[in-house]
Amino acid sequence: MTNTLFDALMEMHRESERDFLILPDGDSLSYQQVHDLSGQMANELVALGVMPGDRVAVQVEKSPEALALYLATLRAGAVFLPLNTAYTATEVAYFIGDARPALVICDPAKEPQRDQFMSPDATLRSMGADGQGSFLQGALGQSAMHHPTARSGDDLAAILYTSGTTGRSKGAMLSHDNLLSNARTLVDAWRFSADDVLLHALPIFHTHGLFVASNVMMLAGGAMIWLPKFDAGQVIGLLPRATTMMGVPTFYTRLLDRDDFTAELAANMRLFTSGSAPLLAETHRAFEERSGHRILERYGMTETNMNTSNPYEGDRRAGTVGPPLPGVELRVTHEGAEVAQGEIGMIEVRGANVFQGYWQMPEKTAEELADDGWFTTGDLGLIDADGYVTIVGRGKDLIISGGFNIYPKEVELLIDEMPGVLESAVIGVPHPDFGEGVVAVIARARDQDPDPQAILADLADKLAKFKQPKKIVIVDELPRNTMGKVQKAALRKEYGGLFP
Ligand code: ATP
Ligand code: MG
Repeated sequence: MTNTLFDALMEMHRESERDFLILPDGDSLSYQQVHDLSGQMANELVALGVMPGDRVAVQVEKSPEALALYLATLRAGAVFLPLNTAYTATEVAYFIGDARPALVICDPAKEPQRDQFMSPDATLRSMGADGQGSFLQGALGQSAMHHPTARSGDDLAAILYTSGTTGRSKGAMLSHDNLLSNARTLVDAWRFSADDVLLHALPIFHTHGLFVASNVMMLAGGAMIWLPKFDAGQVIGLLPRATTMMGVPTFYTRLLDRDDFTAELAANMRLFTSGSAPLLAETHRAFEERSGHRILERYGMTETNMNTSNPYEGDRRAGTVGPPLPGVELRVTHEGAEVAQGEIGMIEVRGANVFQGYWQMPEKTAEELADDGWFTTGDLGLIDADGYVTIVGRGKDLIISGGFNIYPKEVELLIDEMPGVLESAVIGVPHPDFGEGVVAVIARARDQDPDPQAILADLADKLAKFKQPKKIVIVDELPRNTMGKVQKAALRKEYGGLFP
């Protein structure tokens, strides 16, 4: 009997005394210790009535125990359903109502409040980052002996909700094979081995920190420096002990903001990767100048894990996300037909990494996931002559003004080069004459005061009239979520009334 994903990630390391999780205080847990903890937790899940195929919803702080709980859920044959720690009780109530988990595990402090939202058929337990909580206490009383429940590659391993950048989060159903195939691809593509030490400062309720980082490291048998969150000072202190780091673009801009981030600190590193949001070409260049490392940017999403990656060996091109990964097919279409090479269209992908559909959303699944396996990502992009993919933005952020299409990124790239500008977000908001009017929301660089008139004048020389912003708004910073994604929907709401 096999359990596809658990066997590959953890069962094979059950007797390994090698470091698995290295904690900031200097403590570490071996693979064997985490394997044993996952056995105790799996027994506790069974004791609480969790059956194979049941959902286990988890909203807890990042800790070694939280990762062990993911493994325990796989081990018990159940479906792991992590939730963003920032979600409020009302938001969690929606996810619980939607996912109908058999068990919900939350932070001990939130237990009384969550209790009010529980459905009668779900059990509530708690787990804190400090070793507290009813679930953990129960698990510590269990035996570590647990025979992994049989699960095939087609069985569901997780339901992961999308980030909710373009609308309400959708539950992406991911099978054991979806996750394992992609982790295998990434271990090869990025040359991970048991000698690697990954600096892990990402949250583990999102695909980047949970699947891209943690699955890859477990498959490779390497260690992770397990940080509760990204703190630039702490990362700088620990970087000399690491060989690799996976980050979102804001990790890199925050490191660059620090004068004590130097090439010397990164001398032991062999790889920095970036994803979840676009990495500015400017950040890529500045990072190389400072550290001597070319960040490897890749592109993926909750529904598919990773689709493309800049090469480990070879040309890592700033502003692109590289060619499709082995085993992933990628095409660019317009109204269903493939566009000519170099033209912008909708990115579609197909491969063993592509999910099983959206939980409880058969119509949305049918719209986006075709019978022949092609998934419509919602992202617009192009493929260049060398097969490198460039993302130009999301379909939902495309602006249509006076009947013309405007790709925000084209305008943003020009604005970002201008004096006093840190970065920008170009959006379309309702306009009485044009349908949508172009608005540029510009974040000023530190201690700078960019001049809207000068920016407009400069753009007038560079862009067709219909692409030029009708309004410029200067702000201190753009709204971002924890993954560093700019929240354009929030901006559209905020500035929706600019053209009454
Ligand atoms: P929702 O689907 O709920 O609107 P979301 O798409 O932000 O939210 P995720 O699955 O977390 O949820 O994010 C995937 C998206 O992130 C991709 O579709 C793409 O738009 C963006 N993305 C990921 N990596 C990159 C990258 N390297 N460059 C540009 N965009 C990226
Ligand atoms: Mg999405």
